[in-house]
Amino acid sequence: MSHKAWLSKELKNGKILCEACSQACVLVEGEYGICGVRQVENGELKLLVYGLAAALNVDPIEKKPMFHFLPKTKAFSLGTVGCNFSCKFCQNHDISQYPKEHDYEIAGRKFTPEHIVELAIENGCDSIAYTYNEPIIFFEYTYDIAKIAHAKGLKNIYVTSGFETHKAIDLLEPFIDGMNIDIKSFSNEFYKEICGARLKPVLEAVKYAHAKGIWIEITTLLIPGKNDSDEEIRSIAKFIAGVDKSIPWHLSAFHPTYKMLEPSRTPESTLVRAYKIGQEEGLKYLYIGNVDNEDYESTYCPSCKKRVIDRSGNIGQFVTNELDENGSCPFCSYNLEGVWR
Ligand code: SF4
Repeated sequence: MSHKAWLSKELKNGKILCEACSQACVLVEGEYGICGVRQVENGELKLLVYGLAAALNVDPIEKKPMFHFLPKTKAFSLGTVGCNFSCKFCQNHDISQYPKEHDYEIAGRKFTPEHIVELAIENGCDSIAYTYNEPIIFFEYTYDIAKIAHAKGLKNIYVTSGFETHKAIDLLEPFIDGMNIDIKSFSNEFYKEICGARLKPVLEAVKYAHAKGIWIEITTLLIPGKNDSDEEIRSIAKFIAGVDKSIPWHLSAFHPTYKMLEPSRTPESTLVRAYKIGQEEGLKYLYIGNVDNEDYESTYCPSCKKRVIDRSGNIGQFVTNELDENGSCPFCSYNLEGVWR
C-alpha cells in the first residue's frame, strides 16, 4: 500500500531527501531508497509498505530482547519487508532483503494501524514491538500504530539497528517507550563491509534516544574473528558505560547464516569473556543470549547482588520477577532501572 512518506523534504534541485534514517537518500522521480520500500512517485516520497505486515507474532518481551521492560508480558511483534542495512549475517534476510532481491517487489498482508492495535489487545499483549526488519524504514506506519496503541494503554518498542535521524527520534519520543539498539561492532569498516552502513550514526542515535528519556537496551552479536577481540568488546562496553551504566547489554551468539557461512558458532567462552569485560567497565546489567545458562540470563540487584529476576528455559519461558511494581529490590530496596509498569 502506498502512503505519503511524510518524514522527507523536497530539495531546491527538485530531488527529495528522505529524513527517516542516516542513509539520507536523495532521490529523483521513480528512484527507490536503499531500503527498497520508499520511492518517489509523482514528485512525492511514498512508503510502499504502509499497512502491509510481512511478519506478525505474539512474542514474550524477553525475546526482543528487552529484560528491563514489563518482564513476563507479551509483545505483539510486527515487521514488513525491506531494510536500510544489508548485513551478511541477517537472520531475517527473507523479509529484510526481499524487495532488493525480488526486483523491488513488495509483499505483505493488509493490516490497518487500528487492526494491529486491536489484535495486540485481543492477544493479551502489553506492548507492540516493531521488529524483524528495521522499523525506521516504515516510520509512518509505526508512528500511526504507536499513537493509537498509546491511547489504548499499550507501550511501544523499536528493535532497531540505530540509524534513526534525530528528527525521527524527536517524532518518535512521545510514543516509543523502549528501544533495543544493536551495536554490531565498534569498527566503521565492519559496518561498511558487512552491513552497508556506518558506525557513527548508531552511536549518535543511542546517545540521543537515551537523552530523550526512551528506555534503551543494547544488543551485540559477537562473531568469532570479526568483532570479538577484547579491545573491541571493551570499546563497546566503555561507550555504553559512558552513556549510562544502567543500560542493559545483551551479548548474543552468532551462527552461520545467509551470506556469512563462516566462521562457526560463537563459543560460550567468548560470551562469558565479554560479560566479564562489561562488568569490569562498570555496566550494571549484562546478559548472555542464545546459550542455555540461566546464571547469565538472570538479573542481579546492583546493590545487594541477589538474583531478582530469574530467567530459565527457552527465552521468556520461565521468568520469576521478585521486583515490586516500581522495580525495587525485595532484599535491599534498591530501585533497579527499567520500565516496570
Ligand atoms: S529510510 Fe530508506 S529511503 Fe529513507 S534514508 Fe533510509 S534507506 Fe533511504
